[in-house]
Amino acid sequence: MLERTHPSWIEIDLLQFRKNLSILRSHIGNTLFCLPVKANAYGHGLCQIGKEAENCGVDYLAVAHLKEGIELRQAKIQLPILVLGAIHKEQVPELLDFDLEISISSKFKADLVAEQCKKISKKCPVHLEIDTGMQRTGVQIATAPSLFDYMEKLGCFHIVGIYSHFASANHPNDSLAHYQLEKFRSLIETPPFQGKPLLKHLANSSGTLFFKEAHLDMVRPSIVSFGYLPKNAPSFFQEIKPCFSLKTKVSYFKIVEADMGISYGHSYVTPRRTRIVTIPIGYGDGYRRALSNKASVLIRGKMFPIVGTICMDQCMVDIGDSEVHVGDEVVLIGKQGDKEILLEDLALACDTISYELLCLFSQRLPRIYVR
Ligand SMILES: *Cc1c(COP(=O)(O)O)cnc(C)c1O
Repeated sequence: MLERTHPSWIEIDLLQFRKNLSILRSHIGNTLFCLPVKANAYGHGLCQIGKEAENCGVDYLAVAHLKEGIELRQAKIQLPILVLGAIHKEQVPELLDFDLEISISSKFKADLVAEQCKKISKKCPVHLEIDTGMQRTGVQIATAPSLFDYMEKLGCFHIVGIYSHFASANHPNDSLAHYQLEKFRSLIETPPFQGKPLLKHLANSSGTLFFKEAHLDMVRPSIVSFGYLPKNAPSFFQEIKPCFSLKTKVSYFKIVEADMGISYGHSYVTPRRTRIVTIPIGYGDGYRRALSNKASVLIRGKMFPIVGTICMDQCMVDIGDSEVHVGDEVVLIGKQGDKEILLEDLALACDTISYELLCLFSQRLPRIYVR
């Protein structure tokens, strides 16, 4: 097995992933469940997560880019797939070949896609993206009705849905979220949208958890599906847990005298005679250099600090007087015995968010699926 040829790995607990999906399903009822699986399903593995989602009653998938949509189709996934991000003109034929849906948020893009559709006599399924306050992409509220009418007249589109995206929805009293929801609702409740058979969707993870009024026809919760809850999530969601662990095995052992510098630049100096083990993982795997002298790992159920600068492919751990052997399993994220290292804490130490760390774990780390 190729996946066993690398010394470190990511373990994905599919049972926990399923559990997360089923808790979310019980919260949303019959509202459609769209799982965004962009950026390799937040590092969890695009096609495996897509397949699992399809088998667990998820109704829709969303990706950022065309290439991700094509990979899902090549893996024989049949769910509707919405491509959220930019589509260039030359990508339109592939998009239609692979039965993918796209976002349109300007007349310019509508014309471009329409031109391609006419050439190959096909209709393109689209979702109209509305900007309610993110100022990223999305047609402005005032021009949304005329763009919709224009697209209907072009006759090249099957307009499947209309959606927007929260710029903030971190707690139930988030005023920006209330403002965006209100803007979106009043738009879809007036002509030409009112009464049209369009899928209306708005809520990301925190929107789904905190704003039932924002569920509309479909929700798009991703980070929470992977087990990362926003702060102050209601207790109903407490069994939602991460399904991602990062593991390796001890590759080298030595005894080091006091006052010895460890790794590049000697950013750590041994305070006493101690035992140092090396583990074969580094920033080349996405284990961030910013964690040097900050993170800890679990070996034989005990927590030990990473010492010295994290290298591209290796780093060092000070195990003090503990007994550790080459080949012992090391947990860098996740549980071992009764202890756990949280991705959120590593993200804080790197001055970033869980999302970013998840996306940075490199392709060379095999993803191992367990259930
Ligand atoms: C990524 C993304 C989501 C999912 O966001 P989470 O915070 O992970 O739930 C939903 N909608 C859009 C448009 C996105 O780009």
